[in-house]
Amino acid sequence: MSATTRGADAEQAVLAAVPKQLFIGGAWRDGAEGGTVPVEDPATEATIAEVADATEQDALDALAAAHEAFASWRDSAPRERSDILRRAYEAITARSDELALLMTLEMGKPVAESKAEVVYAAGFLRWYAEEAVRVNGRFTVNEAGTGRVLTMKQPVGPCVFITPWNFPLAMGTRKIGPAIAAGCTMVVKPAKLTPLSMLMLAKILEEAGLPAGVLNVVTARSSGSVMKPVITDPRTRKLSFTGSTEVGRTLMAQASEQILRVSMELGGNAPFIVFEDADLEAALDGAMVAKMRNIGEACTAANRFHVADSVAGEFAARLAERMGALKLGRGTEEGVEVGPLIDADQLGKVAELVDDAVAKGARVLCGGERVAGPGHFYRPTVLADVPDDARLLREEIFGPVAPVKGFASEDEAIAAANETEFGLVAYLYTSGLQRALRVSERLETGMVGLNQGMVSNAGAPFGGVKHSGVGREGGPEGIEEYLEIKYVAMSV
Ligand code: NAP
Repeated sequence: MSATTRGADAEQAVLAAVPKQLFIGGAWRDGAEGGTVPVEDPATEATIAEVADATEQDALDALAAAHEAFASWRDSAPRERSDILRRAYEAITARSDELALLMTLEMGKPVAESKAEVVYAAGFLRWYAEEAVRVNGRFTVNEAGTGRVLTMKQPVGPCVFITPWNFPLAMGTRKIGPAIAAGCTMVVKPAKLTPLSMLMLAKILEEAGLPAGVLNVVTARSSGSVMKPVITDPRTRKLSFTGSTEVGRTLMAQASEQILRVSMELGGNAPFIVFEDADLEAALDGAMVAKMRNIGEACTAANRFHVADSVAGEFAARLAERMGALKLGRGTEEGVEVGPLIDADQLGKVAELVDDAVAKGARVLCGGERVAGPGHFYRPTVLADVPDDARLLREEIFGPVAPVKGFASEDEAIAAANETEFGLVAYLYTSGLQRALRVSERLETGMVGLNQGMVSNAGAPFGGVKHSGVGREGGPEGIEEYLEIKYVAMSV
């Protein structure tokens, strides 16, 4: 048997193991109308699976299951919730090769990157297995000394989770982990482009002993019409969404109908600032991670590079050398470092943004073009002398394109970094301690990567300000999103 045949067999086996139905009330079932949604491999454009297409009624059935399960799950023992999460963490870790291959098949990123996401995703289940048994209230004497203040934390209730295609597993576990730990139940709707990792996760949680109805998964072709009745139903108490700012805005409006608790992890436009006193080699290492992780399709992706005038030319040239040498291909192939973009729309958008910058005067140092299909490939690109009116300085690129711009002073760098309606993350390279602190304080973002190109970490509060969202995921802060505080006033 050739290596290719062995590879094809492994792919078939991984795809065959995934349940393709809806997961409602602990049962796997077809959509009420029996329809399906195709899932495509973005590297080959071949259909690799068909998953169930939920109707509005299916989604409401999922909410009914979550609502019913909440009545007992809310009072389950924290240790029981912790043990389930820990078992699921261990199962994911044991099956990381299989899950990574599955993720690459539906999303396109190289298998090594998929493995890194599997580790990251599992980390949220481990972290919240540990948090589940440490939910505290407080007890104190009131100011007048005449009474006592008692606070208790209780699960918010049935939640709705909507997740994007770019991190098919981790964007789920970042919500599911703390929700299970807190005693909430949930309806999860993954992106139709990448539903398989989420369906596999549901199966793993089922096998880990999660009671029926705590987690329900619906896949659907028409997410808007199927989810709106669920979001606006009085049984839902919380909406957590990860995706674009545009859709987030629509969903916040829907959430206002029932005054839901909301968490919104939305788009980004991260500046990557390099001061003249930075270690340039370290900045280049960080730039490659901040730009190229996930083929540039990350909300945290460095969208624009602001580099001190004295080093901007050298930085751009050396970045182009590294970017131009990356190997493109199907993520399952040995040595591939850059996979395809998710679909033709995303490829078209990236090409359009580069063409706009070039038409306005930017210089292409490497890349700047699509690769002939099949597959939605775009060459890693570095642009220098990018003019202020280029759209890609303001819009989220979501692809392997690095625009570089010079700056003359610290104030100019900060002003440029903050000149966006987004505020998720900023990266900052400097060897000056005071400057590091000063600039970090002035950046209008929820996170700062200080001399490092990646901030994601299960134990840290991930999230943005401005149009990048509200709420935090990860760390001790992440479970608070799923807890209500009740205050009991007691007289003595
Ligand atoms: P998207 O188009 O906003 O979709 C996200 C999810 O929302 C998908 O499951 C999608 O379902 C669903 N959806 C779309 N319209 C909907 C509607 N009217 N009602 C209910 N659900 C709806 O975003 P995307 O293209 O998948 O993801 C890329 C975006 O996510 C980028 O902007 C990126 O920055 C952001 N992101 C943010 C974070 C963060 O933590 N801040 C992390 C990752 C990604 P279907 O696709 O099935 O229609």
